[in-house]
Amino acid sequence: MKMMVRNTIQESRYARSLIEASLDPLFTVNTEGKIMDVNQASLNITGQLREQLVGSDFFHYFTKPDSAKQAYLAVFDKGFVSDYPLTIRDHKLTDVLLNGSIFKDDDGNVLGVVVVARDITEQKRFENELKDAKIFAEHATEFAETAQGDAVKASQQANDAVKAKQQFLSNMSHEIRTPMNAIIGFTKVLLKTDLSTKQFEYLSAIKMSGDALIVLINDILDLAKVDSGKMTFEECPFKLKTSIAAMLHLFESKIHEKNIELINEYDVKIPPVVVGDSVRLNQIILNLVSNAVKFTNAGTITMSVQLLKENEQTVTLKFAVSDTGIGISKNKIDQIFENFQQAYSSTSRLFGGTGLGLAIVKQLVELQGGSVAVESELSQGSTFSFILDFKKTTANALQQCEEFEINQEIKDIHILVVEDIPLNQLLMKTLLDDFGFKRDIASNGKIAIEKMKSKNYDVILMDLQMPEMNGFEATEYIRNQLKSTIPIIALTADVTTADVNKCKAVGMDDYISKPVNEKLLYNKIISVLKNHAEVAQLTLSSNKQTGSLRYTDLSYLMKRTKSNPTLMMEMISLYLEQTPPLILSMKKSLHDKDWNSLHASVHKIIPSFSIMGMNADFENIAKQVQEYATSQEAFENIGDLVMKLESACTNACNELKIEFETIKNSLYE
Ligand code: ADP
Repeated sequence: MKMMVRNTIQESRYARSLIEASLDPLFTVNTEGKIMDVNQASLNITGQLREQLVGSDFFHYFTKPDSAKQAYLAVFDKGFVSDYPLTIRDHKLTDVLLNGSIFKDDDGNVLGVVVVARDITEQKRFENELKDAKIFAEHATEFAETAQGDAVKASQQANDAVKAKQQFLSNMSHEIRTPMNAIIGFTKVLLKTDLSTKQFEYLSAIKMSGDALIVLINDILDLAKVDSGKMTFEECPFKLKTSIAAMLHLFESKIHEKNIELINEYDVKIPPVVVGDSVRLNQIILNLVSNAVKFTNAGTITMSVQLLKENEQTVTLKFAVSDTGIGISKNKIDQIFENFQQAYSSTSRLFGGTGLGLAIVKQLVELQGGSVAVESELSQGSTFSFILDFKKTTANALQQCEEFEINQEIKDIHILVVEDIPLNQLLMKTLLDDFGFKRDIASNGKIAIEKMKSKNYDVILMDLQMPEMNGFEATEYIRNQLKSTIPIIALTADVTTADVNKCKAVGMDDYISKPVNEKLLYNKIISVLKNHAEVAQLTLSSNKQTGSLRYTDLSYLMKRTKSNPTLMMEMISLYLEQTPPLILSMKKSLHDKDWNSLHASVHKIIPSFSIMGMNADFENIAKQVQEYATSQEAFENIGDLVMKLESACTNACNELKIEFETIKNSLYE
């Protein structure tokens, strides 16, 4: 009996320890839905005493008693319930998942259910955090996508803005430069006439203002050129010392007026002639010295050029312009090289200027591989310096790029000026009269073509934008319909977007931008005339040789075959066999504009020229055809060249047929 009692006690302790092992609330509930037993966790969560809980209604402790009842009934139904979501009616409404199963007595009678309510607050919190994180991530992605879209839009807008700026600048250049061209040009013409002192003074003032305006327009255009990557630099030998002295000379009167001193320090070790872009160098120095003069009221301005390094090919020079002027404060010094930046807002009012000069200086120096620097102290002065490399040369063709002398021997040149604006027409007439050339004017392409039919001209100066027929259309017509190779120089008012390639593609020889620089115009006219004469000479000489003399010369073949008649006949018959189909294929490719095939046919025909002793000019013509075929440019000439080849090869075939017969006959003699 004692034993039995002890066993019962042990069992009940065992059961209790099992119940308490669960850290989640555990309830045993009888078949009437009343709580029979609970663990400590249940007391904790409900905040009730064991006595209060035991015997009370189980469902009462949940926010949704009906759901709790359903879960409880489901246990009886299925024998268990798992992860049934409920909320305990405690002070913090703990979310739980109910797991339960039935329990029976030894005879198998169902006594009730045992349920464990697993606290899922942490899990819920984690889920919510995950949900929030997901929403946040979605928002972030959305945000990033919008930002990316905005960035693409912004970059598109920036590109559009750059293009619009380019377009605006080129339009403006056209609009301003054309009338300015006339104003400056005619002022120059007037200045050469008999004038009273007053008239001369007024005109000089007009010219100075015009020049200043052109400088500004050119500055803006220079920047546009830099922006669009169209800035190019010349490489010409020039005398640096003379060039700098000439620059400084320009400021003499101003410096004298301001009673300041100008010092020129020039390193004697610098070679007398260097190769580079003297015009751009002058532009850089002009900008720096004019700033120094502008911002200095007393003291000195020093221009120094120093040899830093020298090797076989190049010299590295340091140019510095120092002044004792107003100086620039430390916080402004970084901005002054930017476009349209002046150190102080009052600068423009007090000293004038646009804030473009230094931006251009920096670009011009850096694009040539150099560097600029500035040191300045407020009220003490400034030193602007730059370092540039120049190539060395032994050439004594000094100042050749600048050369401008009217060659009195070049006379009787007839120029056709195709230009619609009357002021420009008049200016061109004046310039060409000064050169001693004869000129006619046509106010559009159509009139020009009519004039060309009745008169011979040596050069055409062709404006691009004209009513009726513009310069491109007129050139195309002259090259393709009139089949004329007359040199054509385009007159363009718009250097930033001037489609130089388009000028070349339609067959123009050169172009010059307005306002026309008279030296450049003269040199370009002479240069295209020279080129044209050389080409004409070549054609003439080859015509002479091919016309009066023979097309073929068999001495090379005789040498190679050691005058073996059979071998010679074999070679000639091979030529006669392969040449006509190659000519046909050349003509067909030209007709079909199949440039690869044209190139291939010409390639096959070239070796036969030297074997059959044909004039080297034909090989050159063939190579030109190949070049055109490869570059697919300047097509207007290609037809003529192919025709020349065809005629030469046909004539060669005729001659070789006779040769073949002669050799053959000699065999049987
Ligand atoms: P601009 O002279 O047309 O205003 P620049 O680009 O040449 O434009 O110069 C930008 C600014 O740098 C000037 O407005 C001036 O404030 C400052 N600056 C340039 N050179 C000097 C100088 N020698 N002394 C003092 N300030 C200068």
